[in-house]
Amino acid sequence: MKLFTVGPTEMYEDTFEVGSKQLPYFRTNEFSKIVLETSSKMKKLLYTNEDTKLIFITGSGSAAMESIVSNSFNKEDKLLIINGGTFGARFKQISEIYNIPYETVDVKYGETLNIEHFKNYNLKEFTGMLVNIDETSTGQLYDIELLSKICNDNGIDLVVDAISSFLADEYYMDKYNIKCTVLSTQKALSISPGLSILAINNDFYERKIKNKKPINLYLNINEHVVNMERGQTPNTPAVGIILELHERIKHIDSAIDEVNRVKENAIYFRNKIKDLGLETPSFPLSNALTPIIFPNDNAKEVFEYLKNKYEIYVNPTGGEMGNKSLRVAHIGNLKKEDYDILIEKMKEVL
Ligand SMILES: *Cc1c(COP(=O)(O)O)cnc(C)c1O
Repeated sequence: MKLFTVGPTEMYEDTFEVGSKQLPYFRTNEFSKIVLETSSKMKKLLYTNEDTKLIFITGSGSAAMESIVSNSFNKEDKLLIINGGTFGARFKQISEIYNIPYETVDVKYGETLNIEHFKNYNLKEFTGMLVNIDETSTGQLYDIELLSKICNDNGIDLVVDAISSFLADEYYMDKYNIKCTVLSTQKALSISPGLSILAINNDFYERKIKNKKPINLYLNINEHVVNMERGQTPNTPAVGIILELHERIKHIDSAIDEVNRVKENAIYFRNKIKDLGLETPSFPLSNALTPIIFPNDNAKEVFEYLKNKYEIYVNPTGGEMGNKSLRVAHIGNLKKEDYDILIEKMKEVL
């Protein structure tokens, strides 16, 4: 089996090794030390300072999205949500459920998000912006410089879901004044799904989260922050995934090295598919994945062929683009040779 999917991704041998062992009991100083070391290293990889509050939530990425939105904002706020695909729509849904006023900036398929999209909004009335910096459903990488500037100029708190972009594209949390970063383990971190991470700027935490009355229990950020001071979590965490993460990031000396590795794979693959007569969208792409357009509307057929004949998995695309597009990931334990094989098999079916 070979995964060219965005998550789960191809994992590393060392991760399997960690995952095959008896799990330890976790209310110990030894486990706390592992949690604190992991937290500290994650902050470095995010280019954020040590005062940033980092918490581990046992739950997939959506749990962390729901947690940060519901704990930071309420009916006194107004959110601007970048809505350019299924993950943008999820932020909208969360805001709806928790009765937080919002407006969306809709990015239609094929459009590149730019300054023009913001011209009909009274930006001063917003208190928060929510964005999935790589909208994984389309592969568009939004312009963080543009979004950060809009937020800084208008006193808007910027919350970034970097779940599929982290370690695939350059990401500087403090430089861009990002108040919270949302991460999840099954994407470029290339370990098991089931753990999500919030990195929260300390001033933002003090101002928007710390003194609020809890509105949920499992997703309550204060509880997590208080426990994290001693390297613990309020509930039983996904102990095994924390151990996988601790081990995995030992191999990543700097985020940039990992980004460059992923980027090389992306460039290599994108050059090759041109020869197959396939197209890619014209908007800016994350290095995490390549959306491929099939002019003959046979994307589903290609997906089934690769899966059934070779156990090769690529990402289908949901909704109206289903027959037109597949997405091929560049994150995880993948090498150029793997792409050579993928291309060869795609040629067969095309
Ligand atoms: C994968 C992903 C998520 C999280 O989805 P889960 O299935 O809850 O892990 C959220 N946002 C983006 C941009 C993603 O790529």
